[in-house]
Amino acid sequence: MATEVLPEESEIMDSEFTTSEVGESGELTAGNHALPWPASTIDPTLIRWRYLLAIPGVHLLACLAFFPWFFSWTGVVLAVLGLYVFGTLGINLCYHRLLTHQGMVAPKWLEHGLALLGVCAMQDTPACWAAMHRIHHKHSDDRPDPHSPLVNFFWGHCGWLMFENREFLNVNCYQRFTRDLLRDPFYLKLERNMNWLRIYTAHALLFFLAGFAIGWSTGGTAMAGVQFGASLVVWGVFARTVLTWHITWSVNSVTHVWGYRNYETNDNSRNNVLVGLWSNGEGWHNNHHADQRAAAHGHRKWEFDVTWLTIRLLEKLGLVTNVVRPRCWKQAEAE
Ligand SMILES: [Zn+2]
Ligand SMILES: [Zn+2]
Repeated sequence: MATEVLPEESEIMDSEFTTSEVGESGELTAGNHALPWPASTIDPTLIRWRYLLAIPGVHLLACLAFFPWFFSWTGVVLAVLGLYVFGTLGINLCYHRLLTHQGMVAPKWLEHGLALLGVCAMQDTPACWAAMHRIHHKHSDDRPDPHSPLVNFFWGHCGWLMFENREFLNVNCYQRFTRDLLRDPFYLKLERNMNWLRIYTAHALLFFLAGFAIGWSTGGTAMAGVQFGASLVVWGVFARTVLTWHITWSVNSVTHVWGYRNYETNDNSRNNVLVGLWSNGEGWHNNHHADQRAAAHGHRKWEFDVTWLTIRLLEKLGLVTNVVRPRCWKQAEAE
C-alpha cells in the first residue's frame, strides 16, 4: 500500500525545494564560497556523546581486520556482500529512494524488511535518517543544511553527526519532516527504547553465533569457533559498517564539492564518477538534487546505477510499483 503523502510531506518533496535559497542573513550559500559555521542551528556545547564515542569505537573494532587472527575468506565475502545487502538495499534503495523520497511503492512486508537491513547499517532509524535528509534537500548548502561540506569537508563528511542540531531537537520539526513515516507503528517502535540499536547488536551477535557454530563443528575446538565467529563479526559487521558509513558520507561530502553538473541547481551538488560507482548509484548527486523523487539517479546511459538496476528488477518481479522515472527520460520519450 502506498504511504499517504501529507500536505507537509508533499511540500518537502515539491520541486520548489530542488534548489536552495539564499540564507536569512543574505549570504551566498553555494558555489565556491565557504559556508559559515551553522551557529544558528548547531550548538558546539551540545555534543552527541553516543555518536562521538560510537564512530571512533566502531572504526577501532573494524581495525581488528588488520590482525591475521581475525581473518577468514568467509568474513571478507560477507563484508563485500554486506555492502550490497545493507548499504545498497537497506540505505540507498529503502532509506533514501523509497522512504525519504517515495520514488516507488513497495508492499509493507518488503518495505519493513528492507528498512531492517538499513537499521543493520547503523545509520540511525529510518525516520531520523529521512528527516535529516529532507532538511538537507530543503536547505541544500544553505545554513540550515545539517551537513554541507561548504562549512568544511570533515563537517560535511561526519563531523555534523557529533553535535546536536537544535532544529532536530524541536519535536514539531521532527514530526513535520517524518510524520508520514511515524504514523506507521513499525517505524515508531524503532524510535523507542533504542530498539534500532538492539536490532543492530542482535544481528552482530547472530553473525558471531553462526560463525561460532560453524567454526566449532569444522575446527573441532571451541577456540576455533570463537576465532571463526570473531572473523565474521569483524569483517562482516564492523568493517562493512565502517565502509558503508564512508560510502554514504562521501555522498554528503564529496558530491557537494567535486564533480560535474548536468543541471544548474542552486546548491553545490555534483555528479562524481568515483562516488557514483562505489556507492552503487548515489554519487550522481546533481541529477538527484535536480529530480529528487526519481528512483533512478543515473540519468545518462553511462551513469551506472546499480541501485536503479535493482529497483528495475523488483519492478519486473512485481514487487515494487509506481516507480518514478526521471523527468528528462519522460521528456525524451515524448519527443
Ligand atoms: Zn545533497
Ligand atoms: Zn535525497
